[in-house]
Amino acid sequence: MNMHKIPDKQIKLGNFDAGDALSKYNLKTEKEAKLDTELIKCTDKKKLPPSSLKKIQNVSFPRSGHALLRRCLQLYFKDKFYFCEFYGGCHESPCTNPQTNYQKNHDFGLRLENNPSFNYIIQYRHPLESLVSLYKLYFNIGVIKEDTKESWIKFCKTNILYWKKFIKKWVIENKNSHAIIIPFNDLLSNTEEILKQTIAYMDPGDEINEKRIKDVIKELNISRRTSIEDFKYYDIKFFKEIEESVKDELKKINLKMIFDSKEKDGLNNGD
Ligand SMILES: [Zn+2]
Repeated sequence: MNMHKIPDKQIKLGNFDAGDALSKYNLKTEKEAKLDTELIKCTDKKKLPPSSLKKIQNVSFPRSGHALLRRCLQLYFKDKFYFCEFYGGCHESPCTNPQTNYQKNHDFGLRLENNPSFNYIIQYRHPLESLVSLYKLYFNIGVIKEDTKESWIKFCKTNILYWKKFIKKWVIENKNSHAIIIPFNDLLSNTEEILKQTIAYMDPGDEINEKRIKDVIKELNISRRTSIEDFKYYDIKFFKEIEESVKDELKKINLKMIFDSKEKDGLNNGD
């Protein structure tokens, strides 16, 4: 595995900068990299034609399919999609650029306002899948310096608390009627339906182009790419313990436990 180092000031744990630096060091296909380069960002400072899309706050737990969904929407809406990275962009919420219609945020500090007059897309995933993926990413980009089982355990125990609070705030107790919630598994297994709902939500004035949605799905070749079982620190006992600590939350959001039965059920995941 290649290890890349980028300056600390750009990426800090707990204040994750997912800007250009991250994209550069993140694993992606050629198609995905091209889309990321073409993304119209709030910091581009270009005067753009007005867009008919609603302004969306995309609040996602890290590694829960944000990039996947964003690339689908970017391909579908093409030059109507004006993006703000927040961490790698203007660092303000709402975005400082009034033309932005899709702002990403991970709410690391859990202080982001849930404003009933804004529109939200919330994304989450089973925490073990998100955390394994995030740990690997943080190591690859140099946020985590020491890659040992101990550092993984420490990372996991700290960030499972962030997941718990994130889920409570944005999913379990989220009463905002201007919010749609997209679990990662649904995005992967029911992509077409999820995209239809999301597109209708973002662009209610325009008829849905079903053929274009099908083309987008084909073009991005959406599939699961990795499995937590392949993680070098995969340890059923520890993983079960972590899952057990969020059992109530998983039940409330109706997310199937991986280690519910005595036998592991061979669940795969994707980044
Ligand atoms: Zn911005």
